[in-house]
Amino acid sequence: MSAEPTRYETLDYRRTGSSGLKLPAFSFGLWQKFGRDYSYATQREILLHAFDLGITHFDNADRYGPPHRAAQETFGRLLATDLAPYRDELILATKAGNPIGPGPYQSGGSRKSLLTSLDQSLRDLGTDYVDIFYHHRPDLDTPLEETVGALVSAVDQGKALYVGISNYLPDRAEAAANLLKAAGVPLLIDQSRYSIYDRRPETDGLLETADRNGFGVIVYSPLAQGLLTDKYLDTIPDGARAQNSTFLSPDVIDDTYRRRTAELNKLAESRGQSLAQLALQWVLRRPEVTSALIGASSTAQLDHNLQALTFAPLTVEELALIDRHGVH
Ligand code: NDP
Repeated sequence: MSAEPTRYETLDYRRTGSSGLKLPAFSFGLWQKFGRDYSYATQREILLHAFDLGITHFDNADRYGPPHRAAQETFGRLLATDLAPYRDELILATKAGNPIGPGPYQSGGSRKSLLTSLDQSLRDLGTDYVDIFYHHRPDLDTPLEETVGALVSAVDQGKALYVGISNYLPDRAEAAANLLKAAGVPLLIDQSRYSIYDRRPETDGLLETADRNGFGVIVYSPLAQGLLTDKYLDTIPDGARAQNSTFLSPDVIDDTYRRRTAELNKLAESRGQSLAQLALQWVLRRPEVTSALIGASSTAQLDHNLQALTFAPLTVEELALIDRHGVH
C-alpha cells in the first residue's frame, strides 16, 4: 500500500499539554470490532483509511479483542504488511493494568504486571517500542510510587517514548504527575471518558488539573459508544454496538434517552450538521482536550465524523441548550 500524499493537509494537530508532541484532533481506538470477531479485510480497510485521512495516533490495550490481545495482533499484522514503512509517522499507544486473566500478574498496577504486559504488547504489535504506555486504571492496592516507577522504567528501557494514565481521579492524577516529573519523565497525557452525556472530567476538575500540571487529555467514547448519533432514535440497527457488545446494553435506549437525544439531534440539524459531528465538536471545544479518541465500524463513519471541525463554533446559546438536554 502507498499512503495518501495529502494526508496531512486536513486534520488539526494539537499540542499535548506542555509537551512537544502533537496529536491529531481525532485519534483512532481499536477497542471494539478489531479482535477476531470481524473480518481482517474490513479492519484493514478502516485502519488504512484512518491513516490516509491524517490520523497518526492509534490507541490499543493488552485487553482489547476478543480475545484479549487480539486487537494488538490485528494492528501488528497491519504494521508488518502495510504500515512498516510508516512506523516513524505513527503514534502507537498501549495500556496495561485492566484484567486480562485470572492470574495475579494479569491486572493491577504492580511493576511485574505492567512491565510483563508491555513486553507482550511489543510482541503482539511487532514493534520495538510504543509511543505512549499507559496505566489503564488506578490500582489502590499498589503504591503509586511502584506504578509510576514501572512507567519510568519503560521509558528508561527504550520500550516507550512517553507515559500516560487512564481513568484516574484528579488528585491521583496530580500525584502521579508530580512523581513522574521528579523522575524526569513528565506525564504526557490522561485518558478519560468525556462526552455530552458524561461530564465528569469537567465536574470533577480533571481538565483543570491537566492544565495546571501541563499534561494533555485524550477523551474516549466522545460519541458515548454511538449513543450520541442519530442511529438509535427509532430502532437498534443490525450490527450496531448496542446489539452486539456487552459494553453497551440496549436497556439504556429507553424513552428518556430517545427524548433527550432527539432534542440534541434537532439542534445539530438546525446547524446543518449531524449529531455525531456536534458531539465531537463539543468535546474538542475545550482547549485542555488534545484529541477525541473515536472508534468506527466503517470508513463512511470515519469520513463523516472527521468533518466535525468544519462547522461554525458552538455559540453560548447552543452550549446552554446542549447543557439543558445533555445533563440528566
Ligand atoms: P465512540 O464514542 O467514538 O464510539 C464509536 C462507535 O460509535 C463506533 O464504533 C460505531 O459503532 C459508532 N459510530 C461512530 N460513528 C458513527 C456515526 N457517524 N453514525 C453512527 N454510529 C457511529 O468511541 P468508543 O467507545 O469506540 O471508544 C473509542 C476508543 O477509546 C476505544 O477504541 C479505545 O481505544 C478507547 N477507550 C478507552 C477506555 C479506557 O478505559 N481508557 C475505555 C473505552 C474506550 P457501531 O457502528 O459498531 O455501532
